[in-house]
Amino acid sequence: MAQGNCNNHPPSVFFPSDGVGVEAAKKICASCPVKEPCLDHALDMRIDHGVWGGASERQRRRILKSRRIAARAALAETAVDLTTPAHSDEIAIFPVSAK
Ligand code: SF4
Repeated sequence: MAQGNCNNHPPSVFFPSDGVGVEAAKKICASCPVKEPCLDHALDMRIDHGVWGGASERQRRRILKSRRIAARAALAETAVDLTTPAHSDEIAIFPVSAK
């Protein structure tokens, strides 16, 4: 991200080895003008390592997990149960006359 605050810091800052480093990187990201697209990119590309868009590796995993759960719930809501007639009480049965 050419406009990112990280351009003013060594890349190693965003690939910390401990929690203190993660918090330092997140502070830099906090005021970054491209924070949102940066996070979206990291999530879309499933980038596992480093701090991106102000989110740690763990935070991105949680975001992805919650998105998967929400997507499954939305899918389940719209799913049609094909094993049970949804409107069986509305189905008209016409008598067939034998002639
Ligand atoms: S939000 Fe992304 S582009 Fe901005 S400083 Fe953080 S890692 Fe760099």
